Amino acid sequence: MRVMKFGGTSVADAPAVERLIGIVKAARERDQAAAQEAGSGIGPVVVVSALGGATDRLLGIAKAAQAGDVSQATQQLYELLERHAAMAETLTSGSRREALLDAIRGEISGLIGLVRALAVLKDVSPRSKDAMAAAGELMSSRLVAAALEETGVPAAWMDARRAIITDGEHTRALPLTEETNARLAERVQPLIAAGRVPVLGGFVGATSDGITTTLGRGGSDYSAAIVGAGLGASEIEIWTDVDGMLTADPRVVPTPRLVPRLTFEEASELAYFGAKVLHPSTILPAVTHDIPVRIINSRRPESPGTLIARAPADGPRSGLVAIACKRHVTVINITSSRMLMAYGFLRRLFEVFERFRTAVDVVTTSEVSVSVTIDDQSQLDVIVEALSAFAEVTCERDMAIVCLVGENLGSDAGAFGKMLEALDGVPLRMVSQAALRRNVTFVLRQADVAEAMNRLHAAFFETVEAAAEPARSL
Ligand code: ASP
Ligand code: MG
Repeated sequence: MRVMKFGGTSVADAPAVERLIGIVKAARERDQAAAQEAGSGIGPVVVVSALGGATDRLLGIAKAAQAGDVSQATQQLYELLERHAAMAETLTSGSRREALLDAIRGEISGLIGLVRALAVLKDVSPRSKDAMAAAGELMSSRLVAAALEETGVPAAWMDARRAIITDGEHTRALPLTEETNARLAERVQPLIAAGRVPVLGGFVGATSDGITTTLGRGGSDYSAAIVGAGLGASEIEIWTDVDGMLTADPRVVPTPRLVPRLTFEEASELAYFGAKVLHPSTILPAVTHDIPVRIINSRRPESPGTLIARAPADGPRSGLVAIACKRHVTVINITSSRMLMAYGFLRRLFEVFERFRTAVDVVTTSEVSVSVTIDDQSQLDVIVEALSAFAEVTCERDMAIVCLVGENLGSDAGAFGKMLEALDGVPLRMVSQAALRRNVTFVLRQADVAEAMNRLHAAFFETVEAAAEPARSL
């Protein structure tokens, strides 16, 4: 059984939902024989995001309410109602349409009440924000379930709040695995066994007391992974509006290639560097259960997409998978000729970052100095002050990280030389390669990023050999 997650653009309007229906039907046909053999339901389980842009809208409405602007907030809620209702009219008919419209109106009128209350208080708590944002997925999932049913797919809408149980950290809640898995087994599994197609909203959950929570922006992928892991899915498909992971960000490198397959570890490295295609946390439940995740373009379902899965033990693999970069990084150089190699020094140093809750990304050391990069600069001044108590500190702003990722980079003896050759003349501030050699990281001036990325990409992906080498296979 597979879990199919459709992102905001894949449910943005009626034609998008029609494509979704085609994709779900095709998957059911494909999975029928296997399900029969296994004596299980066909599935899939469908997880959907809010209609593209709806979450931003809802959070904007919460802001308007906080500013006391009830009329603007209400006006925008009516627009959202219109948008959902128009899709319902196109995609469903008869009593199913009436029931769907009632449900959508119910959600919106609940929010109108909420907006009034918030506008009086002029205060939007994270809990209220969640109640507002969750409506996007609650409505889109009802809409998709009804649209599927309309075309004969035995869909069953499922309130995600009754399946995904989380802690109470509003706006970034974490799932409680045991409770969630119990709910999935109790409420979703029987639907699949009965031949139904459960449809639930991503992003949304509830505490065990039933208070609505959300998993954080982009959290629908996470929901899909949680559901897939809990139900022991064979694969999790992330249907989106791009073909998959690319060898580089197309805004930086004009002609990136599609990466057909990568490992979980490679994907996590890339996700950290803002490979927007996938939410980093998505990886986790899938990794622990060894469930492959496929990213596919819902406008081009025939394209194979990118498969993220454990590398098979056998088979040759080329080294580099992709090149990623991150801008707006600050380098902090910490020098202490007396203390550096004394034990306890690094602990003392990193304690400062811990105290100010700032994550360190790249670290390099020499005999007398340590250089680190940070991404979040909000605590920079206090960090520098605290470090200055026991070391000399300098900072360089407007730096960037360029990271070359590939599970097998380490066994490619020529790779590092090739990188340096490609970067000839580009001033490098830090160079780092972990013992595992899954990635090589360069820190350089932000102004040099585009040049560096393009040169590296040309050297590794655009040479005659690279072109002759068919799609990278694991
Ligand atoms: N709708 C939510 C968001 O826009 C969750 C998601 O789409 O993954 O962040
Ligand atoms: Mg998304």
